[in-house]
Amino acid sequence: MVDIKTFKYFVNNSWHEPSSGKFFDTENPATGVTWARVPDCRSADINRAVAAAKHAFYEGPWGKMMPAQRGRYLQKIGDVISRNAERLGSVETLDNGKLPKQITPSLEKDAWSVDSWNYYAGMCDKFEGRIIPAEMPNLHNYLKWEPFGVVAQILPWNSPIGTLIWKLAPCLAAGNTVVLKPSEYASCSTLELMDVLLEVDLPPGVLNVVTGYGQTTGEPLIDHKDVRMVSFTGGTVGGRIVASVAARQVKPVVMELGGKSPQIVFPDSDLDLAVNGIASGIFPAGGQSCISGSRLLIHKSIIDEFTERLVSRVKKARVGDPNDLKTQIGPMANRPHYEKVLKKISAAEEMGCKLVLDGRSACREVGYYIGPTIFSNVPNGSDLAQNEVFGPVASTESWDDEEQVIHLANDTIYGLAAGIWSQNVTKAMRIADRIEAGTVYINNYFNAAAQSPVGGYKQSGYGRENGWEGMRCFMQAKSVWLATDPLQEEPFS
Ligand code: NAD
Repeated sequence: MVDIKTFKYFVNNSWHEPSSGKFFDTENPATGVTWARVPDCRSADINRAVAAAKHAFYEGPWGKMMPAQRGRYLQKIGDVISRNAERLGSVETLDNGKLPKQITPSLEKDAWSVDSWNYYAGMCDKFEGRIIPAEMPNLHNYLKWEPFGVVAQILPWNSPIGTLIWKLAPCLAAGNTVVLKPSEYASCSTLELMDVLLEVDLPPGVLNVVTGYGQTTGEPLIDHKDVRMVSFTGGTVGGRIVASVAARQVKPVVMELGGKSPQIVFPDSDLDLAVNGIASGIFPAGGQSCISGSRLLIHKSIIDEFTERLVSRVKKARVGDPNDLKTQIGPMANRPHYEKVLKKISAAEEMGCKLVLDGRSACREVGYYIGPTIFSNVPNGSDLAQNEVFGPVASTESWDDEEQVIHLANDTIYGLAAGIWSQNVTKAMRIADRIEAGTVYINNYFNAAAQSPVGGYKQSGYGRENGWEGMRCFMQAKSVWLATDPLQEEPFS
């Protein structure tokens, strides 16, 4: 018998029962057992959260606070998270099956989470405006950056804490207040984080969390008249709906959406490096990463050798319980997703794609496990090559010349990331210029840093997270005109 933990939602630095009295269950994907209940927030709860964020922005200290002071709060957030890394990591493991080694070290001292908070803490008082030399005598024109006010942030279920930090740090640094909605499949680490952050003593209402489903919690939040801006990370299908809801009130939206990222392998690549880089860019997270580089475009002269090496390397991966230290790939994060990935594998098989490694051998009676799965010689127009599986599934395609592979790489609705593997760096840079993607990796994959913007081209989204651009998206420009020698002629003399 498992003790089921009941969470409440978080507004004004305190915990609240959902107005409907309803909760939904959340399962541990390693066992399929319900371990927690999460509030199903509806309009009354959303109104409470938005009112708190609005008050904190317009009446509370946050809206009037000096940027450097906001920076001190951000630094403290990074410190508190690092001291609670293990606690937060263990909830993430229970909630979505991430291996502790994939989450806890990243939250610890000197790791990327602290880097992100410190980076934006430092940027609070460095986001300078400018004087504009408009060609008009006796007029002084300057530009300043201002926050939007209340921002709604919608999170996906993969890497909930990671995606949260990428959004939250720049948004708070810019001076906004926030209502967050995590995914219905992975809300608990976000709620646990709020408990941890009580120690930071942020002014009430600066940071609030409502939980629930996309349609019944997410949509009313986005549509709330006092929400001034939306930052969304999720699938392209959900993103289209969110953008259309936001458009009713012409709200700006940052969209971090799905991808189907190509990896181009040239015959002059270091094949060992490419195989390791590509395997690491897909399988350790079970393919549940937006930039998973699962569309493998391999030159025809090396495709057989490449595929053989990739299969022999990844078939050794140990799939299993995320809490077992020997495990290298954990479960799919939730049951509906597990079922969806299995369906995609069967559909590709039925379509005639050649299965060279079948990860279904890792499936068990309990828990949502799938091992590395590889299809070879998959047509570029097929569903498998075109659409996100978001599971441990890769497909290979062969190509003959440079123009053809550039065409193949760009021939999808997505444009999130791409990998190029070649020892000829001039050629790799030439190709990188022609790839329609927000991030291009040459002879490496999967790296990210607080300082470097990420985001999508085409239907992988717009706006950016991380870097200067990440903060810019949470600010709006105001142009102020000051007459230094006020003189206005009578208009109708
Ligand atoms: P999803 O689109 O199903 O859900 C994401 C969030 O949106 C959830 O909180 C959900 O409740 C909410 N939502 C869904 N429909 C909504 C609606 N109509 N109105 C308001 N909110 C709504 O995505 P997911 O399955 O949780 O996450 C996986 C997807 O996220 C993948 O496609 C992945 O590529 C993408 N992703 C992108 C990035 C990036 O940085 N580009 C990062 C992580 C994940």
